Amino acid sequence: MFINFHTHQQIYDAKIEIVNASIHEINSLNYYSYGLHPWYLDKETLDYDLSKLKMKVGEKRCLAIGECGLDKLSKVDFNLQVEVFIEHIKLANKIKKPLIIHCVKSFNELINCLNLNDNQVPVIIHGYNNNENIAKILIDYGCYFSFGKALLGYESNAAKAIKSVGRKRFFLETDNAEISIKYIYGKAAELLGVDTEIVQAQVQENFTALIKL
Ligand SMILES: [Zn+2]
Repeated sequence: MFINFHTHQQIYDAKIEIVNASIHEINSLNYYSYGLHPWYLDKETLDYDLSKLKMKVGEKRCLAIGECGLDKLSKVDFNLQVEVFIEHIKLANKIKKPLIIHCVKSFNELINCLNLNDNQVPVIIHGYNNNENIAKILIDYGCYFSFGKALLGYESNAAKAIKSVGRKRFFLETDNAEISIKYIYGKAAELLGVDTEIVQAQVQENFTALIKL
């Protein structure tokens, strides 16, 4: 069985696809997550968006909070991003669902926010493709990693990281790439030097450890 941990479209390419859904639409998705992305925060509508998010995250098919997080390349004011991310941490801890994280050039700030707010829920860094030093900071904190199309790049950071984060700490995703999740599993298997079935079993075990369907 294939699990796509983070995607923007339900295409039934995997048994479980966690689709990044919009809080403003009624969806008929099997499984999804809700969050406010640090690229699209709007001060004008923020109170409304947060209250809507709080109302909807309790839905049974909403498996996680996110993607949410911090991005130094976003045009949105960084202090506002921090403020909103903290709201996501509080919410996730209140309803005990994992956080799916988007993080660009802000990993120290990310860990600080999690620590200062006494985070207890699992944290999954999606689309991971950063260097070993950052991986170490995140592993020390206890983060999980979701790897996507960056695995396909020759000697990419992601391709190196998947070998070092440990078998209990990873997931696989397509994000917004138009490729089959099966291809990502194949590449992960090649990098880890095991059969695809082993990768499938491991991701399934990791998924079950974090998420109760
Ligand atoms: Zn995404």
